[in-house]
Amino acid sequence: MSAIVIDGKAAAAALREEARQRTERLKERGVTPCLAVILVGEDPASLSYVTAKQKALAAAGMEGRDIRLSETTTEAQLLSLIASINADKSVHGILVQLPLPAHIREEAVITAIEPGKDVDCFHPVNVGKLLLGRPGFLPCTPHGVLDLLKGQNIPTKGAHAVVVGRSNIVGKPLAVLLARRELNATVTLCHTGTKDLPFHTRQADILIAAAGTPGLIKKDMIKKGAAVIDVGVNRVADTSARGYHLAGDVDFDGAAEAAGWITPVPGGVGPMTIAMLMRNVAQAAEERGGANGD
Ligand code: NAP
Repeated sequence: MSAIVIDGKAAAAALREEARQRTERLKERGVTPCLAVILVGEDPASLSYVTAKQKALAAAGMEGRDIRLSETTTEAQLLSLIASINADKSVHGILVQLPLPAHIREEAVITAIEPGKDVDCFHPVNVGKLLLGRPGFLPCTPHGVLDLLKGQNIPTKGAHAVVVGRSNIVGKPLAVLLARRELNATVTLCHTGTKDLPFHTRQADILIAAAGTPGLIKKDMIKKGAAVIDVGVNRVADTSARGYHLAGDVDFDGAAEAAGWITPVPGGVGPMTIAMLMRNVAQAAEERGGANGD
């Protein structure tokens, strides 16, 4: 292996410490940052994500409202709950764990969250601000990816960044952020309609895989010395006791022979996502000002 393996856990620990210190300062002003995390149903992956988020909130000294609703909750009930939390001044952020059961429209739910409390940065108003380059929340996973690049002093200016995946939560915002003047990368955004994916990935100085397809990116698709950031978290069935293991979108062992930097899965982008969420909750609480309940 020749690549530097980027330690997302260490980078995330530094961010979480920063969020803890911001929380301490807020508490001196009588404000305890508070995030309401809503889970509808019992999807095992979602359960593990909300548990991890609650743990991170507690570690940062923040308050976590852990709201669990049954699979049969109606859209109207969920919207009414969100309206009541929007009005609750002691709650600074609202996160609805996705995916939602099929009978609830994700779009309606995301749009119901007050933009100032939308710490995931999924609301159309916040996505619009992101596109326009106006101040506001940054989406957690893309922001985590950029922070990993920055932490390794990987140059973005003039670099060719290739993003594989155009989802609203990862690929699209990443492409927009990388193309901002401050970062000044030239961006190619790939998806299932892309002809000859390897041709594009081989041009990348920075290759970001966010496709949700295990092992999609192989050694021969990587330019020598490129930074390879693997956003993918895929459950691959195996014969272990828990019945699966986690795999990224990148074939790590092969890719590490060609890349200059690479992120592992787990332990790369994943921990950064939750750490960036803590940062956004602190930001929301700072922007609201005032003591809880004011
Ligand atoms: P998504 O909504 O399923 O989108 C996947 C995107 O990848 C789509 O745009 C799709 O293209 C594209 N794609 C899929 N297979 C492809 C292929 N063979 N060639 C080219 N493009 C391909 O996924 P997502 O929500 O962005 O998540 C992507 C991955 O990141 C998943 O593994 C997810 O678990 C992981 N993730 C990790 C974190 C973290 O914190 N580490 C956070 C979020 C997501 P089309 O648009 O043409 O269908």
